[in-house]
Amino acid sequence: MDMLGVPMAEKKRISVDSPATAKSFAQHLREGMDRRGLKQADLIRMASQRGAKLGKSQVSQYVSGKTLPRRAVVQLLSDILEIEPSFLMGEGTPAVSAVSAASSAAAATESAAELTGLDAEPMGSFPTVIPAGSSAISIPDPPGRAEARPAAAPEPRIHMSRLDKNTNSVNSASSHPEGIIMSDAIRTFSKSSKLDNVLYDVRGPVVDEAARLESEGAHILKLNIGNPAPFGFRTPVEVIQDMREQLPDCEGYSDSRGLFSARKAIMQYAQLKGLPNVSMDGIYTGNGVSELINLCMQALLDTGDEILIPAPDYPLWTACATLAGGTPVHYLCDEQADWNPDLADMEFKITPRTKALVIINPNNPTGAVYSKDVLEGIVEIARRHQLMIFADEIYDRLCMDDAEHVSIASLAPDLFCVTFSGLSKSHMIAGYRIGWMVVSGNKRLGSDFMLGVNMLSNMRLCSNVPAQSIVQTALGGHQSVKDYVAPGGRVYEQRNYVYEALNAIDGITAVKPKAAFYIFPKMDVKKFNIHDDEQFALDLLHQKGILITRGGGFNWPEPDHFRIVYLPRMGVLREAMEDLAEFFETYRQA
Ligand code: PLP
Repeated sequence: MDMLGVPMAEKKRISVDSPATAKSFAQHLREGMDRRGLKQADLIRMASQRGAKLGKSQVSQYVSGKTLPRRAVVQLLSDILEIEPSFLMGEGTPAVSAVSAASSAAAATESAAELTGLDAEPMGSFPTVIPAGSSAISIPDPPGRAEARPAAAPEPRIHMSRLDKNTNSVNSASSHPEGIIMSDAIRTFSKSSKLDNVLYDVRGPVVDEAARLESEGAHILKLNIGNPAPFGFRTPVEVIQDMREQLPDCEGYSDSRGLFSARKAIMQYAQLKGLPNVSMDGIYTGNGVSELINLCMQALLDTGDEILIPAPDYPLWTACATLAGGTPVHYLCDEQADWNPDLADMEFKITPRTKALVIINPNNPTGAVYSKDVLEGIVEIARRHQLMIFADEIYDRLCMDDAEHVSIASLAPDLFCVTFSGLSKSHMIAGYRIGWMVVSGNKRLGSDFMLGVNMLSNMRLCSNVPAQSIVQTALGGHQSVKDYVAPGGRVYEQRNYVYEALNAIDGITAVKPKAAFYIFPKMDVKKFNIHDDEQFALDLLHQKGILITRGGGFNWPEPDHFRIVYLPRMGVLREAMEDLAEFFETYRQA
C-alpha cells in the first residue's frame, strides 16, 4: 500500500514496461467504453467530475490509437470505466477493478492529482500546459509515446488543501472550523460540467495556438473572425459624433429593453421589412445579438427540449442551446443547392420534443441568402409542427448581386417569431456591442416564454447605453454599407477575388457567397487525405501562418470544409490565397 492506501501491485500493472501499443490500448479502451455505453464526451465529463481535465483531441487520440496515454491517464480512464488498468494496457481481463471503494477513490484522486500537476516533480514528464482562461491544469501526451516514470520516483502525497489567505502559502493539514480535516495540497478549480459539450471553435484551440505563435514573434494572418474594424472598415463618422454628443446622457441604466429612441428606430426598421404585429414592448436591445441568443435559449429550453439549428451554423446557437440544457439537432444545408436548407432533412429531424427552429439568413459561414420560396417552405414546416421561429438576420444589409433579403417573419403572421439583428456587421461597429431582437406574429403563442425573456432581461439590467444611443442615427439616412457590397466596393471585389482564387486551386471548390463576408470552401479529402479538420487548421497555421476556422467549428459533420473571412484588403488576400495554393500543392495529412 502507498500512503493513500492504493495497493502498490495495482500501480505496477500499469508500468511503462507494459506491452501496450497505442493501437492495442485504443482497442481495449473502446471495448471498455462500449461495455459501459460511454462516449468520448462522457470520458471528458467524468474526468472533470474527478477534478482532472482531459481535452477533446487528447481523448480522440487515445480512442483512435494515435497516442498511448501516460500512466496517470490510464489510471484515470480505468477508474472511469471501472476496469483494471492492466486490461487497458493489454494484460488480463476487463474485470471490474478489485480496488476497494476507498482505494479506488484514492486512486482517482491520485490520477486527478497527477493530471492536474499536484504531484512531486515528475521525472521525464512533459511540459505542463496551462490553457489561457482554464482553471484546471492539463498535461497533454505527446503523440506516440507514454510517459516513463521510474519505479523509484517518490509517490506524491495528495490532500485537499487551501492557500493561506494572508501569506499566500499552502496550509499544511489544519482543522476546518466545522471539523473537516484540511490538508496541504493546492486546491484547483475546474470549469463546470455544463460546459463539457459546449463548442466555440471560432475562438478555440487553434486560435490559442496562433496566439502562442504570435507571442513567440510569428506573424499570423487572421482569416478567422468576422471583425470588420481591424481590416479598415470604419464606423461612419456621423455615428461616432452622435455617440460623443450623447455620452453625458448615457450614464445611467436604461429601461431593460432599451432606450425609447433606439427601440422606435428598430420598430420602424422592422416595419419596413414587413414584420407583422410588432410593438415597442416586443423589442429588446442587447450587448450584441450574442447576448440575446443566449437569453432566448435560457428562457425557452428545458433539459431534453430539442431545437433545430442549421449545419453549418454560427456556433453560438448550438453552444447556447446546449448550455441552456436543450438538445441542438442539426438540419443540413445543401452545398449542391447553393447551401439552402434541406427542407426534407429539416422536417425529418422534428420530434415531439422539438420546440423551435433557427435559421441564419444571410448565412454565416456559407454566405447563402434564402429565396422567398425556400423561406415559405420553412414556414410551412414550422406551421405543420407548431414550432416557433428564431431568425438570425444580422447580415441582412450585406447582400450582393441580385440577392434580396426577405425576413422570414414577414411570411409568418400566424406563428411566433423572434428576429435578430444589430449594428456589428452592417455598421462595422462590432466593438460597441449593440444588437436587438424583435418579437412578431402571433404573440399569444409565446406569452409565457416572454415572461421568461422579461425576467432575464431585467436581471441583466440593460444593454450598453452609449451604443443604444446611436441606433437611430445608424438605421436612418445613408447606409454606407451599401457602397461596400455594390460592384467596385471592397466587400464585393474581395468576395469575387477569393471565390475565383479558391476555385482555381486543385482539390478546392467553393460556392459563391451572396452576402456577408465569409466563404466556406470544400476540400477534396481523398486527394489531401484529410480525416481531421482541426489537424488541417493547425498544419496550415504552422506551415503558412494562416488562421482559418475548421468546418467542424460550425457543427459541420464532415472534416472537409473550412471558413475564410475575406475582410482583409486585396493585397493581403492575394498573398494569403497564393500561400494557400502553395500549401495545397503538397499537403497530405499524416
Ligand atoms: N449571429 C451571427 C450569424 C454572427 O455571425 C454573429 C457574429 O459573428 C453574431 C450573431 C453575433 O453578433 P453580435 O456582434 O451582435 O453579438
